[in-house]
Amino acid sequence: MNIRIGYGWDSHEFQAGAPLKLGGLAIDHPQGLAGHSDGDVLLHAITDALLGALAVGDIGSFFPPGDPRWKDADSSIFLNLALDEVRTAGYRIVNIDTTLVLAAPKIGPIAGDLRERVAELLQIPPGAVGIKAKTPEGLNLDHVAQAHAVVLLERSESDDELKLLAAEAEDDNAVDHVLSELASEALGVPSRRTTPLPAFDTEDIT
Ligand code: MG
Repeated sequence: MNIRIGYGWDSHEFQAGAPLKLGGLAIDHPQGLAGHSDGDVLLHAITDALLGALAVGDIGSFFPPGDPRWKDADSSIFLNLALDEVRTAGYRIVNIDTTLVLAAPKIGPIAGDLRERVAELLQIPPGAVGIKAKTPEGLNLDHVAQAHAVVLLERSESDDELKLLAAEAEDDNAVDHVLSELASEALGVPSRRTTPLPAFDTEDIT
């Protein structure tokens, strides 16, 4: 049996007037989540769960605090990098499960859309994505959104599938590298490193 489990958690504070992104979906709500990136607390928790399953670091070690490239960044960028790490290591996602903890908006009416979008971003069937939500009863945290995520990975036993996974990850990395170089030239920001530092950064500003 060659499986690994990963767990991720994140928290962001609500901010009046900011756009709300959850699970890669833009949601109509008077408040959004503050953050250096788009503040997508659900994608951040899933990203950390994927990286944690591989024991390769966390979102802060891949995307260092204060890096101007990630200002208002779409958090699917972070998720895609974690997905590439999963494929490069020869694993595929069996399923993920998540719990959002927030007072508003109500997740029930949009849970189906969230599930579809997260499944699409992870390139797995919607039936492999759990979306649940709780209100923060008794926690005095109505101004905060939290997300928990667990993921189960399975290593492929098939040589053909391992080659395919590696090729997919390499394709993504090649595209990322070109985009990174272009951004470097156009914006004068440093190129994204291709090998992450095996360090943890507890200052999570993503
Ligand atoms: Mg975060």
